[in-house]
Amino acid sequence: MLPRFLVKSLIHPLHERLRGRSTHTFCKLYMDHDRGSVAELQAWHERCLTEHLQHAQVRVSWYRERVRAVQSPADLANFPLLDKSMVRSAGQQLAAEGFDLPLIPLATGGSSGEPLRFWSDARRESSQLAIKLRARAWFGLHAGHRETDLWGSPIELAAHARMRKLSAWMLGVRLLPAFALQDSTMAKFRHWLSSGRTDFVYGYASALARYARYLLQHGERLELGGPKLVISTAEVLLDADRADIVKAMGAPVANEFGCRDGGLVAHECPRGSLHVMHDAVHVEILRPDGSATALGESGELVLTNLWARGYPMIRYRTGDRAAWSKQACSCGLPHPVLSAIEGRMTDSLVRDDGARVHGLALIYILREQPGVQRFRCTQRRDRSLLVEVEAAETTDRPALELLLRRGVAKVLGSSTRVECCFTATLVPLASGKHRFILCEIPEEAGS
Ligand SMILES: [Zn+2]
Repeated sequence: MLPRFLVKSLIHPLHERLRGRSTHTFCKLYMDHDRGSVAELQAWHERCLTEHLQHAQVRVSWYRERVRAVQSPADLANFPLLDKSMVRSAGQQLAAEGFDLPLIPLATGGSSGEPLRFWSDARRESSQLAIKLRARAWFGLHAGHRETDLWGSPIELAAHARMRKLSAWMLGVRLLPAFALQDSTMAKFRHWLSSGRTDFVYGYASALARYARYLLQHGERLELGGPKLVISTAEVLLDADRADIVKAMGAPVANEFGCRDGGLVAHECPRGSLHVMHDAVHVEILRPDGSATALGESGELVLTNLWARGYPMIRYRTGDRAAWSKQACSCGLPHPVLSAIEGRMTDSLVRDDGARVHGLALIYILREQPGVQRFRCTQRRDRSLLVEVEAAETTDRPALELLLRRGVAKVLGSSTRVECCFTATLVPLASGKHRFILCEIPEEAGS
């Protein structure tokens, strides 16, 4: 591994520049905001929001047809709330005309059970990376500190293996699969973490919790030489899971909250408050009638990414619920604070050989299939899998079913029985509406 100072001052800035990203320019801006006052940040936020809305109204045909000229941040109320089905049918009409950067196609939304294809650009990506770097700086970590990621599907990791390995090695990042939750993988993780070569760990909340419980079962506590911080992302972090992670890894846990399609929304500070990234996103929390909630009142989280200029998704309905905190944080950061998030949760599933697999491994298969609008996977006690799919009218269902069966066989093994059920409208569950991968097999029966 390269020395930390070399990665921080030379390799990381060069890596970002070669990828066409202005990450370090954003980092400087964001860190200046962190040192400024609430009033200064609010003034900057309002200017940036107005500029973004004006850009969308002038340069994006979909908005030009629906919204009149923008004068101030208050004009945001004239923009319609945007859900995934609207983005899907708008397609390229949401792309900015004459935009100065190439658009980058992305697919996401799997963890919300509703896949979506949308477009990003290098500036939006730079902002996203800079937000992560700034939040890590709150804990004294910077580019070059050694990171272990519990991330990605085995398929995704294999596809970019060579390039990823090289760039990860240069940047001090170690990638471990988050989806294969068998003992052999976790034993490697235990060995790696106790070797003292990791400054912090980053991964899915449920995968971190599972690894933590494995460490505890083996009597391992990583106090000396273990990571200094664990960052949990992509799913709801349960209190019990947080306690297990702290106990096993001997490090504080910071929660990161966001979504690929909307952007990184908030990050916990060292005092445990979830600060909204007020210089990168505009957050609204709304009641069913569209009015803003009071402090402490739970509502729908609606998001505007201020740097999604190539493909603006304004007032985007994330499907998550949240509440504004009644109390400011004592850490001195000028960003507003969320008190609660009701987001996504994912169960782990059981392979035909009995090993546990992270539920998100299935999402990677479902979200890639054109025509899939919503889905829910339920593994029954007999290990068979029910895949319920809401698909477009025009979808070739037999062909889609064949692809899904093949994909499931790769993740859960070829002897797993699969039942595909197509429906015009997937009815949400009365309880657990944020759960799209469910497992009815008790934990101890799997692994
Ligand atoms: Zn704080």
